[in-house]
Amino acid sequence: MINQNMYALGANRSCIRELFEYGRQRAAIVGPENVFDYSLGNPSIPAPAGVNEAIHGVLREMDSLAVHGYTSAPGDLPLRAAVADDLNARYGAHVRPQDLFIGCGAAPELVSVIRALAVEHSEFIAVAPFFPEYRPFVESSGGKLVVVPADIPNFQIDFAALEAALNANTQAVILNSPNNPAGTVYTAETLRKLAALLDAKSAEFGKRIYIISDEPYRELVYGGVTAPWIPGIYDHTLVCYSWSKSLSLPGERIGYVYVAETCADHDALYAAVAGAARAGGHVCAPSLMQKVIARCVSLRPDLEAYDANRRLLSEALSSYGYEMAKPDGAFYLFVKAPGGSAAAFSEQAKRHDLLLVPGDDFGCPEYFRICYCVSRDLIERSLPLFEKLIRE
Ligand code: PLP
Repeated sequence: MINQNMYALGANRSCIRELFEYGRQRAAIVGPENVFDYSLGNPSIPAPAGVNEAIHGVLREMDSLAVHGYTSAPGDLPLRAAVADDLNARYGAHVRPQDLFIGCGAAPELVSVIRALAVEHSEFIAVAPFFPEYRPFVESSGGKLVVVPADIPNFQIDFAALEAALNANTQAVILNSPNNPAGTVYTAETLRKLAALLDAKSAEFGKRIYIISDEPYRELVYGGVTAPWIPGIYDHTLVCYSWSKSLSLPGERIGYVYVAETCADHDALYAAVAGAARAGGHVCAPSLMQKVIARCVSLRPDLEAYDANRRLLSEALSSYGYEMAKPDGAFYLFVKAPGGSAAAFSEQAKRHDLLLVPGDDFGCPEYFRICYCVSRDLIERSLPLFEKLIRE
């Protein structure tokens, strides 16, 4: 007998992976230069040189047994201290090393945090458009994912819908800002309003509702926009962070959970996050990368190439008549499908080997996602197709 839920998750590829594989097949037939693949969020800016220098430095200078051995489950203390110092310097925060649990990227960290909070009948709220993996993360933890819409077209939060969705079973609201797929960054005003609502509802229900802040894109912001430090606005915040996008290290699997000291039941909550990681087979995050990142916490990405792509695409598409969410962060454009159905538009685009992800799985079937971590040349050559498609 096989667990049918796990079978379904493993056997059915995500729509994004499906499209990516299709692109590879088409590339073998028509040539890679003729496939305009905007499907996958794999960073296209190489990791800063400092990362490779740190890898060499660690290998040269540190004892091999220590570099490649197990670390403590929550991670090396020097790394946690370096992350705490960096966050405190940048945000005037009060992070302590013991509030940090070094994990293997935002995805498994989210699973640990959700499991730590999953009790009988628990509900987790996501604001659409949302990262589709939240659904298996929540449902495999025994929880229910409740989706509320964004306030379209500004893609902040629809507070009336959120208020209606909150109830005594709500354990947490999952936020993702800068957002995949919308590229939206929540403003401080939105976050303050959210904090006030969650405080009021927590008091009404006699229980604490947490924020789970999924932040792999925190540093990927453009045009002078900054992503506010959410634990500074809402005391009861858990942050899931990774260096996958900010340092272009998605294959290295390294990040952290931050359980703010101000969270209700902080010590038990931190222990439950560690326990959930343990139950999921976590032993420690990659040891070499822990040493490397301890030397790189102050490195920031050079966003010039993403920013240039963002401006080129958003300006060209707007001039053709497309409407889109304001692209302030991450590396995605979320564009309204001409005709109203992103699935139909994406099929139409596929006929020209232009691969666009329909927003259905993100909870917004009228929009499609463009991942602009691609070469400038690909964008330039694809623009006539976008212009043609809106006129078809
Ligand atoms: N959350 C969001 C919104 C993402 O877009 C991604 C990856 O694309 C993740 C989490 C997972 O990232 P990681 O590589 O840190 O596990």
